[in-house]
Amino acid sequence: MKQDRRQFIYRSLTGLAAITVSPHVIGHSLFSKTEPYFSKPWIELSKAAYLNNASQISKMAGGKPVVAVLKNNAYGLGDVQVAKILDNSPHIAGMAIVKDDRGIAMRNEGVSKPILLMGDFDSELANALVDKEITLSVFSQASLQKVITLAMETNKQIEVAIYVDTGLGRMGIPYQEATGIAQEIAKNGKLSITQTFSTLTTPKDFAELQIQRFENITNEFKEKGVPTGLKHLAPSYSLLDLPESYQEAVRPGILLHGTFPEAKMEASSQFPLEVTYRLKAPVIRVEKLRAGDTIGFSRFYKIEKDEWIATLPVGWADGYNSGAENGAFVLIGDKLHPVVNVNASHTNVSLGAKTTVKVGDVATLIGPEKSEITPEGFAELVEGHNYLQINYKESIPKKIYETF
Ligand SMILES: *Cc1c(COP(=O)(O)O)cnc(C)c1O
Repeated sequence: MKQDRRQFIYRSLTGLAAITVSPHVIGHSLFSKTEPYFSKPWIELSKAAYLNNASQISKMAGGKPVVAVLKNNAYGLGDVQVAKILDNSPHIAGMAIVKDDRGIAMRNEGVSKPILLMGDFDSELANALVDKEITLSVFSQASLQKVITLAMETNKQIEVAIYVDTGLGRMGIPYQEATGIAQEIAKNGKLSITQTFSTLTTPKDFAELQIQRFENITNEFKEKGVPTGLKHLAPSYSLLDLPESYQEAVRPGILLHGTFPEAKMEASSQFPLEVTYRLKAPVIRVEKLRAGDTIGFSRFYKIEKDEWIATLPVGWADGYNSGAENGAFVLIGDKLHPVVNVNASHTNVSLGAKTTVKVGDVATLIGPEKSEITPEGFAELVEGHNYLQINYKESIPKKIYETF
């Protein structure tokens, strides 16, 4: 558990002003010479947990490789940071993102595996994307024209993925048109098809029909002599629900972070995933509130008997779920404390009638230490779904650990 501070990637540590504080309310780590004091929330990531999960997910999928979906800043946990970790896993076939600039950011940080852009790209970034060998999705007639134009302007080979809509109705070439478009790509010497993919819906019977459509199309490709490249279909839910969805690789997002897409899924006992992250914040205020006092704009929490209340500098604007005030806990030391109020940038927790908690102590809002604060435990307590709590702001600093 002892952490090596040299492992931290922590960018916003700036000078601390000297101020006077009353010594009876401050923790030992506050303003000491050896221990830095952080006044804002941060996220800790475990390399070992990510590498374990990549391996477990591949096991779940019968040994197939994993295309890691790191869209939405890896669900708020740091897409570049997570990509750098997963770049070292033998089970990871590549990364998948939705925003063009994130792929460039990953390459700039040394990520070497294939990066699939599942979304559109800005014209300004087109050449950089080709230079950095980002795989561009063709997801419509218009996007085909864009890629063909780009091919005419560059000397480089462009890696292309055929994104097929087999029924999600959101993105991709309608499956009836996919073979024709793929043939056009295949005859362009500057374009190489390296992946063909689609996304499954959750209802099993329809997902099965989608798989059938996908297989019909990829068979048509074969008949016409068009390569498919790596074929993949399955987000986390299908991966756990439908072995026929595996194809040549699986394409999960949320499972990588150690969270199942729904509570109590069957595989969750069979394939032990590790929670990969902690959301932490220091205690910045400890006060005794008196009977009759209230907390929050709406006076949401009423003090019945004198009660110590801690304030954490993290709130829903940072991505902490505001539902936490309806039953979640945070861990301070080895004790869980109920969350009683979540505002945009502050959260309050009840410390009870007596407490040893001090300013400078560190609270873990999400983490692997106790079932109540794991992402799934948290979601259960606040009756949210498992994806809700990971909308953390990109500006929250990330600290990378070898292991927790
Ligand atoms: C989000 C997404 C995934 C991963 O979804 P999870 O439920 O997080 O596993 C896979 N494929 C596509 C196209 C997606 O948009």
